[in-house]
Amino acid sequence: MFLTPEHEELKRTVERFCTQEINPHVEEWEEAGIFPAHEVFGKLGSLGLLGLTKPEAYGGAGLDYSYSVVMAEALGSCRCGGVPMAIGVQTDMATPALARFGSDEVRTQFLAPSISGEYVACLGVSEVGAGSDVASLKTTARKDGGDYVINGGKMWTTNGTQADWICLLANTSEGSAHRNKSLICVPMKTRGVEVARKLKKAGMNSSDTAQLHFDDVRVPQRYRIGEEGMGFMYQMMQFQEERLWAAAGWQKNKEIIRETIDYLRERQAFGKPLLDNQFIYFKLAELQTEAEAVGALFHKAVALYVAGNDVTQLASMCKLKAARVAREVGDWCVQFWGGMGYVEETRVNRFWRDTRLSSIGGGADEVMLGIIAKTMGILPRNG
Ligand SMILES: Cc1cc2nc3c(=O)[nH]c(=O)nc-3n(C[C@H](O)[C@H](O)[C@H](O)COP(=O)(O)OP(=O)(O)OC[C@H]3O[C@@H](n4cnc5c(N)ncnc54)[C@H](O)[C@@H]3O)c2cc1C
Repeated sequence: MFLTPEHEELKRTVERFCTQEINPHVEEWEEAGIFPAHEVFGKLGSLGLLGLTKPEAYGGAGLDYSYSVVMAEALGSCRCGGVPMAIGVQTDMATPALARFGSDEVRTQFLAPSISGEYVACLGVSEVGAGSDVASLKTTARKDGGDYVINGGKMWTTNGTQADWICLLANTSEGSAHRNKSLICVPMKTRGVEVARKLKKAGMNSSDTAQLHFDDVRVPQRYRIGEEGMGFMYQMMQFQEERLWAAAGWQKNKEIIRETIDYLRERQAFGKPLLDNQFIYFKLAELQTEAEAVGALFHKAVALYVAGNDVTQLASMCKLKAARVAREVGDWCVQFWGGMGYVEETRVNRFWRDTRLSSIGGGADEVMLGIIAKTMGILPRNG
């Protein structure tokens, strides 16, 4: 992707932020299983980094999506995956539909403070019984006077223990599963919203992940985003940016490969550096090639998206390929680091644990394959 001086400046700003404000605290936050989102988002907000592509009327910078991508790539210089993921939820997963389809009132109330960093946002799509199959979710928002009364629960909600509001997908009527859902902004302090538990995970540990319950939660119907019944469609559109954001981590592969090369150059076995084994340097050369290939695919998708095209197929390919390559890089690098690769304190170990999520979260690999097959016209009707 062609970087303008403005892109370069943004990249430097984000990298500096990672070095100064995130990396010194990563070990503590990983250990604690949470990072102080209000504090970090407040600082990001004051630098204008939470609203790059959002409308200027609500405090955003009104830039095109290439700037979001530069930020997502630059966040790869964080020494963990959890904080960048939490930031991505705020900027590219919980707020795109609100920015595009929300009324002036909900944008003022929920979007503006999410851009300034005063509010932490989370996204409530997945449920205990509905992850890949989003259409089958069970949470309901029943109309009562001018309100919705919400009952149900959400699972694996990133930022969920500390969020101020949730972008919630719920069934607002009976009927077709693709036409009966709405996205609703729900303040997390509303009576009946309960953080049932904080989930302990294998990776992404500095990011908090919650299970949430909704018990007769009453919010005004005007907190709905856009048209009633359009929630599923809006969420599918919102997923495009989520999936592109997820693929932006491709850069980090090269950092992990670089660190591994440095380690293997020093580490001796059988009288020579481990790096001098052809099997190892060939494998690293192959992984580097794979990483570059993901980058090329990703930048093609971004360029088309910025130009206003539908990139459903390419975004799904990016998500699929980026996830698989990251897992492969993590797995091989752990292998080459040997015993130290298996020790949690090494960066390669954290990368390996963090990136396992990439083939599951935000649409599993098999869901991406289903979308790609559908856009190729080869998915059977009941596939
Ligand atoms: C750390 C973390 C953070 C998350 N953050 C959020 C969040 O902020 N908000 C949110 O809404 N959700 C979030 N999620 C949920 C995530 O998006 C789901 O876990 C994911 O969509 C998969 O759903 P599931 O876990 O129910 O898997 P299931 O739907 O039970 O699927 C299990 C496995 O079956 C396979 N599979 C699924 N469908 C098919 C198919 N059609 N054909 C073949 N194989 C298939 C896949 O391998 C899949 O991994 C998060 C999850 C994690 C772990």
